[in-house]
Amino acid sequence: MQRLIEGVHKFQKDEFGNYRKLFRKLSQEGQNPHTLFITCSDSRVLAELITQSKPGDLFVVKNVGNIVPPANARGDTNSTAAAIEFAMETLRVSDLVICGHSQCGAITQLLDKAPVSEATPHLRDWLKLAAPVVETLNRNYTHLPGSRERETAAAEENVLFGLDNLHSYPCVQDRLMDGSLQLHGWFFKIATAELFAYDPDTRQFSPLAPEH
Ligand SMILES: [Zn+2]
Repeated sequence: MQRLIEGVHKFQKDEFGNYRKLFRKLSQEGQNPHTLFITCSDSRVLAELITQSKPGDLFVVKNVGNIVPPANARGDTNSTAAAIEFAMETLRVSDLVICGHSQCGAITQLLDKAPVSEATPHLRDWLKLAAPVVETLNRNYTHLPGSRERETAAAEENVLFGLDNLHSYPCVQDRLMDGSLQLHGWFFKIATAELFAYDPDTRQFSPLAPEH
């Protein structure tokens, strides 16, 4: 906790001056983020850092394994669905990114046959939502040699699973129909901080194209 408190004081003292005008403007005019960015809770994946975004730019959802449940998955609550609806209907973002990543603990657990601890019933139920990803792995990726390759394939398939599930949300369908929303599937490689984007034409994740 001490580190957090020191960080708050450091921000107030050293950084806030650079952002004072921006925060005041955002406070007065409200937020108008351009992108809904759904990524993993993993401490190594920082949406704003890796995209060099500023306050007000991204509406961020972080959840375990950047899973996007289908619209009919209600459970006790579905906060990811709530964020999707808010971003579509109220914020009207123009872009939606699902960003998976390497060495994802949720993916490892998803692929792991070991029983989940009884102390984590919510985690167990949450990861069950992505069970179709494991089925895809078992169907299409039996040729992969090692667990590292399987985990990368699963993380990528989990992003595609999320993109598919987005189509089950009426609010997303509406925005896609009128051409005001673009969907993007990304994969972040932690060791090198490289970003890969899914290309529907080649059906591959390729290095993010340089800006034009
Ligand atoms: Zn993760």
